Amino acid sequence: MQYIAPLAKLIEQFRALPGIGPKSAARLAYHILEMDKARAEALAAAIVEAKNKIGYCQVCFNLTDSNPCKICCADERDSTTVCVVEEPRDVAAMERMREYRGLYHVLHGSLSPLEGIGPQDLRIKELLSRIQAGQIQEVIMATNPNVEGEATAMYLARLLKPIGIKVTRIAHGLPIGGDLEYADEVTLSKALENRREI
Ligand SMILES: [Zn+2]
Repeated sequence: MQYIAPLAKLIEQFRALPGIGPKSAARLAYHILEMDKARAEALAAAIVEAKNKIGYCQVCFNLTDSNPCKICCADERDSTTVCVVEEPRDVAAMERMREYRGLYHVLHGSLSPLEGIGPQDLRIKELLSRIQAGQIQEVIMATNPNVEGEATAMYLARLLKPIGIKVTRIAHGLPIGGDLEYADEVTLSKALENRREI
């Protein structure tokens, strides 16, 4: 099907997004053309603003618009406990449950020999430096309950145990093979509560 050039360009941009097929891309593009101009401009400005203002926290590598991030800076949080997750969206999932009061460390992925992702590709070095600073007593592995997530948790446990850090793994109330991000708050809260030492 032939689209007018600027419309084709917009559809192409949507198609490049995750989970958007050709039909959804076209529907979104037509929807934007139906919007009044101010709404469309606000949408475009929000994209640019988010890209310009949001970066990674230099301590925990979560997304932030201030550095270090608000969680790393919060006095009321327990700085002796660090929860290790794969992605920034996992921090959001943990925070939604409003129970965890410790800090985070975002690895930005998980170990996957098949995809050529090794320890040097994750923020593991940075986690070790945080631990060497001395305050951290427990590291909770909240990587995803799939093969890569388990392998990553075990790898880190082997690194951290010899330096005398308590390493725990969140419990398997979580659907195996699933994503932390999609777990409901109750399941996630139970998984955290029932974490066990590894
Ligand atoms: Zn941070």
